This record gives sequence, C-alpha cells and structure tokens, in this order.
Amino acid sequence: MATFLAVNLVKYLCTCGKRQSICRLYLCRHCLKLRCGECVQHEVDTPYCPNCLENLPSAEAKMRKNRCSNCFDCPSCFHTLMTRATSLMVANPDDANKSTPKKMYYMACGFCRWTTRDVGLADQLSSSGGWQDQENEHVKRINSLLDYHRQMSQREKAEKERKKYVKRRTHLYYSDKYGLTSVAAAKRKSIAAMSNLSIKDGDELPTPVEPGETVTDFDPLPEEIFTEAVDLSKVSNMRQRLATPEFQPAFAQNLYPQHKHLLIRKSLRCKECEHNLSKPDFNPVSIKFKIQLIALNHVPEIRILSPAVFLPQKETLVTLTLSNPSVYNTTVHFLSLDDENETGDEVNAKCELPKGELVIARRDDAAMYDDQNQLQQEFKDDPGVIAFRKSNKIGIFMRVKPNLKEGDVKVRFRMQHEYRNTTTALQSEDKEPQIVWLEHTVYMAVGKIQGK
Ligand SMILES: [Zn+2]
Ligand SMILES: [Zn+2]
Ligand SMILES: [Zn+2]
Ligand SMILES: [Zn+2]
Repeated sequence: MATFLAVNLVKYLCTCGKRQSICRLYLCRHCLKLRCGECVQHEVDTPYCPNCLENLPSAEAKMRKNRCSNCFDCPSCFHTLMTRATSLMVANPDDANKSTPKKMYYMACGFCRWTTRDVGLADQLSSSGGWQDQENEHVKRINSLLDYHRQMSQREKAEKERKKYVKRRTHLYYSDKYGLTSVAAAKRKSIAAMSNLSIKDGDELPTPVEPGETVTDFDPLPEEIFTEAVDLSKVSNMRQRLATPEFQPAFAQNLYPQHKHLLIRKSLRCKECEHNLSKPDFNPVSIKFKIQLIALNHVPEIRILSPAVFLPQKETLVTLTLSNPSVYNTTVHFLSLDDENETGDEVNAKCELPKGELVIARRDDAAMYDDQNQLQQEFKDDPGVIAFRKSNKIGIFMRVKPNLKEGDVKVRFRMQHEYRNTTTALQSEDKEPQIVWLEHTVYMAVGKIQGK
C-alpha cells in the first residue's frame, strides 16, 4: 500500500514534464510513453446517478439539469435522503367511529435527522415520491435570456458559414480559365442561393430582451437584528444557501430537498495517438474497465524499503525494492544522468545504483507458496548487488551522498526496462510479443539529513 500512502516519495517523469507517482500515470501502448492525468484527453462516457445508479444519455441528463429525478439530497448536510414509511390513521368512510391505518411516506436524513416534515412538506402517498419541485419566480426571465443567446449564437454561426462561402467564391472565378465555366456557373448559382439564405437569416435580428434593472435601494435591516441574539439553528449557512442559487433560503425553515447531482463515468484518451488509455464498463453498476493502461501494471515499481538517516557529505546505503508487474521476467538497467548538477533544489545528492543487468522474476500469484530457495538458485544473485529476492520483487542497494547540510535528500536517476508489447502482437501476423526498451526518469526523496 506504500504506493498509495507515500505517493510523494518516488515520482516518475511524465512525457509532459510533470512528475507523478506511478499509480497516477498511464502507459500508452501505442506511443510507448508515459501519460499523466494532465496530458490526456478526458471524455464523458455516461452520466449516472451515484445513488440509484441509473444511467442516461448526455442529452437527457442536460435536460434534467444533470440531476437525478428520483434521488434527493439533504438540504442541511447534503447527505442522501432516505424514504421513510409511517402509518396515519384516517377516518373510515363507512363507519365514522372507526379509523383505518394508511401508509404514508416522507424523507429523512440519516445523518443530521432533517426530515421533510421539518419544513412542513406533506407526506406522500407513494414511496417513489411525487415531490413537487419548487417554482422559481424568475424562470420566465431566464428562459427569455437563454432563447436570446441561442438565437445570437445561431446568427453568428450563419455569418461564419457565409464568410466561408464568400471566400471560396473569389477562388472560383479562376476556374473559368480552364474551361470549367459551366461547372463553375452552376456552383456559383448554388452558393449565391446559399449566401442569400444566410443573409436573410441574419437580417432577422433576435428580439432583444429587456435589459436588467439595477437594484439601488435595499430594505433596511430589521430592528431585531441589532437587539436580539441570532439563533443559529434557524438560519441557513452560506453553503446551504448557495446549494440552490435560484432560491438561496436564508432561514432553515425554507430549506427544500434537492435533486441529487449526477456524476459521470469518463474515459481517458492519449492526445498523441488518440487511443484509449482508460475506458470503464458502460454499466455504472460494474467497477470493471474495458481498457485500463495504468503504468503500475506495466512499469516496474520502485519503493524505499525503510527510511534512512543521512549525514552531510557522507555516503549512506539505502535499500530499494523493485517489483515486476509483468507476467514475464523483466530485465532492468539503471543509468545515472551524466550532466548531473547535484546541488540544486530538485536533486541534491549523488546516487550510485547497481550497474549491469538486473532480472526480476515474473509476477505469479501462486509463487508465494513456492519454495523461495528454488528462486535463489534460478537467478544466482550476487549478494553485494541484490539485497534479497522474493517472488516478483528484488531488493537493491543504492549509495547516496548528500550535497547539502540540512533538509530533504533528493536524487534522480534513469531506469531502463524491458516491455513486452502485446497489442501489436495481436495485430501483426506473427504472434510473438514485441519487446521494447522503455526508459524513465525517476525522482526520489530518500530521507532527511540528521539534525544536530
Ligand atoms: Zn503528463
Ligand atoms: Zn438517482
Ligand atoms: Zn442531513
Ligand atoms: Zn498514445
């Protein structure tokens, strides 16, 4: 879990130049480059309700203002509201002296105990609700503004189209030279008709909306506000008010259940080759992915085994672990960066990693029950280089010599590893996976200089 808890210690350099933890990176199998969340394209797949998991097309979601029609949030604490059943005694129409129980429903918040009864909403006959939405008094004005802007944008679009055709028309005159007069004439005719059309559209200016009125006078504050203590349980806070911008209730008694916001499932796409890096299953109930190219599944992961304490200008041995996510044995090389200036803000220590090839065993979920000695025999490790070997993991030594007097010790190195690209193997005739060498720059905060 160190990958997810101490994510800021070991970072890989993304192709875009940002440094990210490996669990936040993707490996594009087509360009063979690392991509982070900031250099990929985010696309909306399906909007869905996080409570009832209903998914709906984007257009419909937009029409419903991206809110679920069946689920509600508590207006007081924003928790999901639950429907509660209760029985009410109603008078029997046949016998006035008797009364029969009748099931009624209301909504309550399981977290803050707010109920629809608190604001005087009548209980409903059906469990599915039928809760009336609040009427916004400015809805007419908002709609007229929306209409106006829609017309304006249409007009602008038509004008743009027209300009495009006008430009092309000048070009068409030249075609006469090449004996294409009849073709050109026909084209010109149709274009003229088209541009006439758009001019006609343009002439119809959208009916202007009434300009908004500036409010200059406000009612003075009521006298009690200066004389009486405020009861905080009766007024709403800023968050509660702004959750419904169209009503902004100032008092707790005016809070009203809110339709739950929809969430989206999104997919990520590589900006360079336009292949998907992550694509979830269409069904919101499923937590599976159709495509998930997270770098953690393809690039060997480096972790610091245990924290070390450093002294200025003194070499210290740090043990790192390298784990292989692939189902093949992977060879890894370490390279130091030659043009190293080891006194900066980003890198302030000299590091020395094992030279030569390191082979990490393949990932095999059943291997942990196997004999570890067999693994040792298979690889015949030099104990001076490999600290330990355990299933798909090895421990290696790194010598670090800090060039600073106090603060965090930071190193940088390059790692080269084998990668079996199975995608292209599927496309090409020979089914041999293509083996490529990938190289990544790794930044690492290894520890702190010991204080005096
Ligand atoms: Zn990036
Ligand atoms: Zn819902
Ligand atoms: Zn609540
Ligand atoms: Zn790509």
